[in-house]
Formats: sequence, C-alpha cells, structure tokens
Amino acid sequence: MVDDAVAPGKASRPDASPLILHAASEVVGFAKTGGLADVVGSLPCVLARHGYPCVVMTPLYRSTRAARVPMQATPHRVRVPLAGREIAGAIWQSTLADGEVPVYLVEQPEFFERDDPVSGAGLYQFTRLDGTRVDYPDNAERYAFFCQAVVQAIERLGLRPAIVHAHDWQTGLLPVYLQKPGHPGADGAGIHTVFTIHNIAYQGVFPAEVLPRIGLDWRLFNPEQLEFYGQLNCLKAGIVFAERITTVSARYALEIQTPYFGCGLQGVLSARRDRLTGIVNGVDYRIWNPAHDPLIASRYDSSNVSEGKAICKAALQRRFRLPEQPRAPLLGMVSRLVEQKGLDLLREAAPPLLAEDGVQLVVLGDGEPAYRRMLQELQARYPQQVGLALTFDEGLAHQIEAGADIYLMPSLYEPSGLNQLYSLKYGTVPVVRATGGLADTIVDVTPETLASGTATGFCFTAYAGSALLEATRRALALYRGDRERWLQVVRTGMSQDWSWDRSAREYQKLYDQLLAPAD
Ligand code: ADP
Repeated sequence: MVDDAVAPGKASRPDASPLILHAASEVVGFAKTGGLADVVGSLPCVLARHGYPCVVMTPLYRSTRAARVPMQATPHRVRVPLAGREIAGAIWQSTLADGEVPVYLVEQPEFFERDDPVSGAGLYQFTRLDGTRVDYPDNAERYAFFCQAVVQAIERLGLRPAIVHAHDWQTGLLPVYLQKPGHPGADGAGIHTVFTIHNIAYQGVFPAEVLPRIGLDWRLFNPEQLEFYGQLNCLKAGIVFAERITTVSARYALEIQTPYFGCGLQGVLSARRDRLTGIVNGVDYRIWNPAHDPLIASRYDSSNVSEGKAICKAALQRRFRLPEQPRAPLLGMVSRLVEQKGLDLLREAAPPLLAEDGVQLVVLGDGEPAYRRMLQELQARYPQQVGLALTFDEGLAHQIEAGADIYLMPSLYEPSGLNQLYSLKYGTVPVVRATGGLADTIVDVTPETLASGTATGFCFTAYAGSALLEATRRALALYRGDRERWLQVVRTGMSQDWSWDRSAREYQKLYDQLLAPAD
C-alpha cells in the first residue's frame, strides 16, 4: 500500500515520471456534451502538476474545429482495418487549457466531422425528422476505429505510457485492443490499464455481428468477456479487460453493484469489486470561480456575495426577460434533457412552485423532445416566471450558476455531478436528490447541520415530485425567512474545496499501486 501522507510527485515509484495516457470521446475546449469532457479537460492538468505527466487522445470533431483551439498537423498517420476496408486517419496536436498537457486529436472526417448543432447532429446521436434522437448506426465502427487509432498513435508518436486510462464505453475496447498480440500492451509489455465509468447507463451495446467488422476475435465473445445477453457490450469490455476500474463517487461505486443502478452490469462489477474504486470528480476552479469568471456580469467572492449575486441575478433576469425583482427567489437548472436528470419530478413540482407569488425558474438544456415540450409548455403557462434556453451554451451555464439563488438537481441517479459543486462555489444553494455523487457532496440543512456550520443544501430521497417540492419549499422558506442563516449556508458552500487536487491524489494512489513493483 502507498502511504496516504506521501506528497504529490514524491511517491516511491519505479519510474520517476510515468506517462499517463487518457483516452476519451470528449474533452472540454474541444468538444463537450457533459461532465466527462470537464473531467478529461481538467484532471490531466492537475496530475501533471503533481508529477504525473499526461497526454490526452480524443477524436477531432466538427465542433472541435469550430471551437478554434490552435492545432498543428503532425506527420503521423494511422490505418485501421475495418469492415473489409482500410480506414486512414491523421494525428493532430494541441494542448489542454493549461498550455502544457499535449492533446492528440484523431482526424477522420467521415467518422467524426458530422456533428452540426443546426441540423441537430451531435457527437453520438442525430435528430430524425420526427424530432426523436437516435444513435448513429455506425457508432461501434466509429469508436472501434478511435480505440485502434489510439493504439497505433502510441507507436507512431513513440509514446511510452506506463498507464492507459480509458473513459466510458467509447474507449471500453481500448484495453482489449492494447492486449492483442503484437500491440503495445500485449505480452506483459508493461502498459497498465485503468477504466473509468462516468455513467453506467451508457454502455455501447451492439449486435454481435459487428465483432469481425471491428477486428475482434469470436473467442472473446463469451459471458466472461465481451458478450452481454448475445450482444457486444463496450462498457463491459472496459470493466473486464482493464486492471483497475474507477467510477466517479464512492456512493456510485456501491450503487452500481446493485440491480437498480447497475443496468445489468451489477454482477460483473460485484465480481471485480476488489478492483473498483469510487473517486468523486473535482471542479476546475480556473474555469468555475465567480471571483474571476469573465463570463458573468459581476465578479464576487464570499465577502461580497450579496452584492455580486444581485448584479448577476438582474443580468440573468434581463437575459430571460423576467421581471427584474431582486427578492424574487430565482431557481436555476442546467442539464442534459434526459430522464436521468429528474425532469419528470420538475414536471410535477414546478406548477405548485410557480403558483407561489414571485418564484422564478430558468432552465438551460438540450435533449429529448418530450422534455423540451414539457418545458415549453411550462414557459407558455408562466411566461412572467419561466426563462428557457433549449440549447447548449457554456456562457449561459456560468450566468445561471451566478445569477440563480437556488439550483435544482433532482436526478434519478447521478454518478458524480458537477453542477452541484459549481453551485456551491457560486453561492447558489443546491436542492438535490440524495443519490450518487449528490449524496456524497451536499449536506442537508437541518437544525443540527446549521448549528454545526456544515449545511450546504437541501436533500430529498424519494423519487417523487412531492419530495422535490417539499425540499424546494424548505429552501424557499429559509431564503425568504432567515437572511442570516441563508447567507451562512451560502458561505459554507462557497468556502468548500472540491478542487481536483484532492481527487487527483486518489488517482495517483491508484496509479502508484499499479506501478509498484510486484513483491
Ligand atoms: P452529466 O455529465 O451527466 O451531463 P454533470 O453534472 O457531471 O452531468 O456535468 C454536466 C456538465 O455539462 C456541466 O459542466 C454542465 O454545466 C454542462 N451542461 C449540461 N447541459 C448544458 C447546456 N445545455 N449548456 C451548457 N452546459 C451544459
């Protein structure tokens, strides 16, 4: 075991600077649909600062080009045999926002440059004419290509990663390809593998027939390896083939071993529980800090939170054409519009909340048509109280965090959750359902937690609109009735440290265990 007290970068390791290669389908600054992008954009920078140099590999999407991050072509090419064809790709180079950690982008226009917000085409899904969103039919090929391109790029670029750290189903096959005969991780060649589950509900399940198309041997198609009820399961591949598995909170690590949360993989995970660790995500305070956030109307910290938030709130009310009332409680939500995020509870709880005088609600989100419609109807019913932006907008996400008084996160399940942590920093008191990372990070307001100065938000347990309503009403009562106590909760949240430093140390411990010479 590695000593907890070992300082970052000073751990006893065989190689003083083992290279960690992170492979992921999205990275903030390049392409993003959710929290995965935030993690892969931030964690490697902190690991590098702690003496664990990292590189990141990710696909080059159309939105990556639109983001206009500086990128240079490299002379390196990959050629991946796929479905009887040889698919060529090129490697581009950039860096993460710190300007230090190299990012290698896999360019393959046919596979990766089809996303286009105007036509409703995303990274993984597109919108049909009837408005429904469906997966691209060739997702297996796209991400099998990406995984094999990563394996080839390691060789072409002359990288010698000590650990390949793959994230989510899109890279679940990476540990499999690495171990193929003749590949860099094969025959005990010394590349260790870590696989992180950011959300077990997305597994990358495909018909078995795809196996030969993506260069995998039928011998791997058995219940102990890649098979999942007669189909190929890419997330299961990562869980079975990686040496260590992590997920994004301690609570979620336990939850996914149960039938309710495990989405069919609870047995596989229970069998590997000695390899499974829960490490909660951190916040990148370079990006998410109201003290120096360039995207919000006024900068503030806990010493001037009332004044700062008042300016941000007025700006947000103007942005959504809501009455500019300083004391109207403003509820905020930024979310993918999917069942996971508890929008069915909002559907029930919003009308009675909005029936109360002056309550305002702003929602920023993109996703399923049924939830878009539900929110549009709510706005049509309460035009003076509901602000709605059905899009993906990073700047507006910051403005809602800064301008709202209360942040709603009634998730059905939440592996880690980032917005509740952003809310703490922005002095926006979260109302959360106590599941996964939400349960691990928010302390419910009670007389005891108020007295001990630990209260940071309002929690509820039952997955019911009435429970969300009750918790939000508790929040409203404190907001309206006891300004001093409210500010105490706000300031307790703002003073907390959910930076990546802490979580990165947990990953470092894990890496050190993998790299420690066997006894
Ligand atoms: P998940 O990964 O399940 O979507 P997280 O809370 O871990 O949930 O992370 C969500 C991230 O995506 C946050 O950074 C959040 O601000 C951002 N986000 C989600 N939807 C939108 C949107 N419509 N516009 C801007 N940012 C969004």
